[in-house]
Amino acid sequence: MVQARLHRQGRTRLRRERAQPARPVTSADVLVLGGGPAGSAAARTLARLGKSVVVVERSTYHDWRPGESLPPQARTTLAELGVVERLLELEPATSFGIRACWGQSDPYAIDFIFDASGTGCQVDRPRFDAMLASAAADAGAALVTGARLLALELERCCWQACVETAGQRRVFRARALVDATGRSALVARRLGVRRRAFDRLIGLVGLVDLPESAAVESNLLLEAVEDGWWYSAPLPRSRMTVAFMTDADLIGSRACASAFAARLRQAPYTTERVQGLRLRDLRVRSAATARLDEPSGAGWLAVGDAAEAHDPLAGIGLTNAIDSGRRGARALAAALDGDTEAKARYAADTAVSFWRYLRQRTEQYARERRWASSPFWRRRCTDDASSSPGGIGSDAWG
Ligand SMILES: Cc1cc2nc3c(=O)[nH]c(=O)nc-3n(C[C@H](O)[C@H](O)[C@H](O)COP(=O)(O)OP(=O)(O)OC[C@H]3O[C@@H](n4cnc5c(N)ncnc54)[C@H](O)[C@@H]3O)c2cc1C
Repeated sequence: MVQARLHRQGRTRLRRERAQPARPVTSADVLVLGGGPAGSAAARTLARLGKSVVVVERSTYHDWRPGESLPPQARTTLAELGVVERLLELEPATSFGIRACWGQSDPYAIDFIFDASGTGCQVDRPRFDAMLASAAADAGAALVTGARLLALELERCCWQACVETAGQRRVFRARALVDATGRSALVARRLGVRRRAFDRLIGLVGLVDLPESAAVESNLLLEAVEDGWWYSAPLPRSRMTVAFMTDADLIGSRACASAFAARLRQAPYTTERVQGLRLRDLRVRSAATARLDEPSGAGWLAVGDAAEAHDPLAGIGLTNAIDSGRRGARALAAALDGDTEAKARYAADTAVSFWRYLRQRTEQYARERRWASSPFWRRRCTDDASSSPGGIGSDAWG
């Protein structure tokens, strides 16, 4: 029934397409919609498993995107994908640890030196995502960038996507589809699968350019305040990302820039770090914890943020995206080869890791007790924060 609705929507749009001149049609085993970290990891894995893959990506990897810190443990995930050398070629900024004002007003150090995986790093996200996409292409995936999805339909177990790229319309057909569209979870939502949000967290995220001569501490700085928390981290090429994380309803109707400036005054260590520097490219992004009720169905599977999205405090977004891209790809390849249980196993594993993450998130927030009556902290320190079966709606920002 749900699929029929998608089918009807798709057919309506495709009928309009038919008035256009003939378009080249490409067939593949799998169509991956979205070429972020999860989509590229899925595509590279599928291609290595011998499946033909097309990745359709909206951007051309030139747009700025938040989410740039890789913890030491990410090295294992990147090694499993076979891209550590490629990462090093991007010359990421090394991170030796985190300086945190969390649970106390004086900063303390969380040192990566004692981590068996080594140091962490900060990457230039567009270049990082482009690197992963080219690793997928090198494994054999066909990569279509700057692509606008015009129509998508599922007909007799075959997906058909009509896409406009470089002024040309193209049609892709595939036996299976990977939804790697990030928090929009475009395909799953169109199929009627519910995406539950567990909080209203948003990030007001911007960049500052650092003077060449500036001696900036390499660590990520984390600073809790009454209505949320700040993070800032130096990036490659003399830049620094600065973000204020809060709940969407707590900044009310204030303009993003004025809410950012007002809250910055509450964070002395972050203020000191950005003193005299001009903030640019300030954006609002959803950072809510969210998950799909079902991360897979007949002929499709969701990976990365599309399947489950985490609070940036956990620092696992990119690692999880790549890991779930790989796991999802293996499940889909097995399903295409006749394993009828593979996608159910993927869904079960995804659920287990998500509930474990929810417990850890509650523990992390519970370490900050200075503003027990503040709505931001109160919401996160109840049992409901980890066990709410219904969630609180959808994460509409970003
Ligand atoms: C403020 C903030 C800070 C964060 N900080 C960190 C951090 O420091 N470390 C960390 O590990 N994680 C962090 N994250 C999380 C991390 O960014 C995400 O978990 C990660 O990007 C998820 O990867 P993904 O591939 O699933 O989705 P995305 O990165 O969102 O990629 C989705 C891709 O799909 C494409 N797409 C979307 N719709 C379409 C369409 N219709 N057609 C074609 N293509 C489409 C997009 O262009 C994009 O390339 C942060 C997140 C936020 C919001």
